[in-house]
Amino acid sequence: MLLEVRDLHVEFRTRDGVAKAVNGVTYGVDEGETLAVLGESGSGKSVTAQAVMGILDTPPGRITGGEVVFQGRDLLTLKEEERRRIRGAEMAMVFQDALSALNPVLTVGDQLAEMFTVHRGMSRKDARAKAVELMDRVRIPAARERVRQYPHQFSGGMRQRIMIAMAIALEPALIIADEPTTALDVTVQAQVMELLAELQREYRMGLILITHDLGVVADVADRIAVMYAGRIVESAPVHDIYKAPAHPYTRGLLDSIPRLDHKGRELYAIKGLPPNLTRIPPGCPFHPRCPLARDVCTTDDPPLYEVSGTRGSACHFWRECLDG
Ligand code: SF4
Repeated sequence: MLLEVRDLHVEFRTRDGVAKAVNGVTYGVDEGETLAVLGESGSGKSVTAQAVMGILDTPPGRITGGEVVFQGRDLLTLKEEERRRIRGAEMAMVFQDALSALNPVLTVGDQLAEMFTVHRGMSRKDARAKAVELMDRVRIPAARERVRQYPHQFSGGMRQRIMIAMAIALEPALIIADEPTTALDVTVQAQVMELLAELQREYRMGLILITHDLGVVADVADRIAVMYAGRIVESAPVHDIYKAPAHPYTRGLLDSIPRLDHKGRELYAIKGLPPNLTRIPPGCPFHPRCPLARDVCTTDDPPLYEVSGTRGSACHFWRECLDG
């Protein structure tokens, strides 16, 4: 396995108390595989990714337990200098907001070229040529001219392509893309997602795709891990989830996807809000919002039951959920 996150716990100190943002998350991604991590905001999906990348804001965030094993090494035991070397070269991240992730006072060419001068010791001229090559690779028209432009001179979709170019520059083994298309309009979203999937296949990278939108992952992911209140509530191959979810929360997310054949019908929304992470409800954390909840759900926290050899669900009534 390229990356294995094992029983990871992350807490944040807030004015309200300790927020348990990640509560025992375990997942993995292999070379050439795409794992989609899905959930509403506050589910812990981005915090888990930041802990993997080693870019968690500390304080107030604190990893209180678990392991992040990447290519056989537990990253949580490495010195910051070693982690910095791994970031960018062996694992890279694509952020949602390219405009704030890119440096506004440097041309995109300089930012791309810097990857090669710093990490590969290339001359400025060769690094500049690599920057143009990369911009071509992510299909930015007129790359030779646009390499001299600044981030604000590009559209949102083009900026996201530049972020992707920076992420793949050093051909890392793993890319984490955190809501890479959320800020884009639907057509551009599809193009950027397609590009990411194409590069992932070409370079045989592991890809962790973080999203709140189950609609965008169907064609690109191999597996899905659904997160709620800082834990994995369902983990399964993508086709199994679309065929029949084994957790009521996953079912709710699926039912919330707009569908052409449901034109005119009111769009389903999961009732209520995700819990305050300083006061996670006892029992199953989803019980206040769950249409299948029973008394036992208010007291007994469900483990991740084994539904099949490749699938798990943290619901006492996963069989019922599977039957629809
Ligand atoms: Fe709903 Fe109970 Fe299953 Fe939790 S354990 S998801 S409350 S049915």
